[in-house]
Amino acid sequence: LSDKLSRLVKQMRGQARITEDNVQEMLREVRMALLEADVALPVVRDFIARVKEKALGQEVVGSLNPGQALVGIVHRELVATMGEGVSDINLAAQPPAVILMAGLQGAGKTTTTAKLAKHLIEKRKKKVLTVSGDVYRPAAIEQLKTVTKQAGAEWFPSTPDQQPVDIARAALDYARKQYFDVLLVDTAGRLAIDEAMMREIRELHAAIKPVETLFVVDAMQGQDAVNTAKAFKEALPLTGIILTKLDGDSRGGAALSVRQITGAPIKFAGTSEKIDGLEVFDAERHAGRILGMGDIVALVEQVQAGVDIDAAQKLAAKVKSGAGFDLEDFLMQLRQMKQMGGLSTLMDKMPAQVQAKAGQVDMDKAERDVRRKEGIICSMTPQERRKPEIIKATRKRRIAAGAGVHVQEVNRLLNEFEQMQTMMKKMKGGAMMKLMRRMGGKG
Ligand code: GDP
Ligand code: MG
Repeated sequence: LSDKLSRLVKQMRGQARITEDNVQEMLREVRMALLEADVALPVVRDFIARVKEKALGQEVVGSLNPGQALVGIVHRELVATMGEGVSDINLAAQPPAVILMAGLQGAGKTTTTAKLAKHLIEKRKKKVLTVSGDVYRPAAIEQLKTVTKQAGAEWFPSTPDQQPVDIARAALDYARKQYFDVLLVDTAGRLAIDEAMMREIRELHAAIKPVETLFVVDAMQGQDAVNTAKAFKEALPLTGIILTKLDGDSRGGAALSVRQITGAPIKFAGTSEKIDGLEVFDAERHAGRILGMGDIVALVEQVQAGVDIDAAQKLAAKVKSGAGFDLEDFLMQLRQMKQMGGLSTLMDKMPAQVQAKAGQVDMDKAERDVRRKEGIICSMTPQERRKPEIIKATRKRRIAAGAGVHVQEVNRLLNEFEQMQTMMKKMKGGAMMKLMRRMGGKG
């Protein structure tokens, strides 16, 4: 996939202008990247909508290269979404600070409980107690005992015949008397969400009032992570997420889904089965992983090197005279493009490498698109072209019939024009000067 994205970025090198079409195409790739990384569909939709809004604004226009800017925007948005509000474990409570671990069976709660104990002992110099409320599997209590020992923390005994709430209360009482700073409460998970389990953990939460309620989720869980996250968010006021098994080969899209669905920050990532396999979550790095681009900076530089000065100058000239940019101007632009010899001729002038990469793009179709757009504008009256805002449903139907296209196509063209117009307005002033300077002081 990283290939596809960089191919697109390269294709956009020669273009100095962001258009509805090239954004769409680029966003399609981003969308696919996110789906391949197992980000849930509704989350992908939201994300793409946010990126598109930003892409069609000034951020892209101010740059000489739309591809570069767009990849940058996608990356920044990913980092912002996943990195928002990140902080270490909150211990701001009357000691002992209670931390409740929640999540499905096998998510990594018990392992992570020990990892956190070690982290709190070593990095925060705390005295830590752990306790298991997993009374359904005797082995689970033993497991916590073993890993707690490895972490150098103390373990509070529990047995399968006890109630989880009673266990937690007894542990809390002990922690208070022995001046522990932190009590980590491990819980039972089911293989799937069920009401009894949710009730149990809600009761546990009410009884011990944790300062942190951490949702532990397996990064390999993919699309299902969304439903799990939803159920836990409804049952508990989650304060943080721990994403486990990031050492696996998943692209880790669950991070974005779970972050968006719960609204809770991703605090840590599990990176091995071992007790020290816990890292502070790095949103920057994880964004690269989701996009399938290990080194986004390299890509951006690569793109920067391919800036097409000619195209930028042409755009600048248009913008200069772009006062009151209307559909007449839009039509003129389309015709200029045709005069320049059409897209395929343009492509012939590109380096062979770019041509090869762009081979999959259907040039004929792209040219047909331009002709259809021209046809639509030609079916408008001069008044409509100068004041496109008057084009409502009836006029749209007439124009569509005249051009022999569907009404949707007229809508698409009007949208594209509107975005172009917004862009042109923003280009005047500071951005314009910047563009000129970047072009080497010309104009
Ligand atoms: P629980 O049922 O939620 O308590 O899950 P466990 O802590 O028992 O973990 C389930 C399995 O996942 C165990 O085999 C762990 O060793 C493994 N595991 C947990 N976290 C990680 C991690 O970050 N990386 C890897 N590779 N394995 C992990
Ligand atoms: Mg467990």
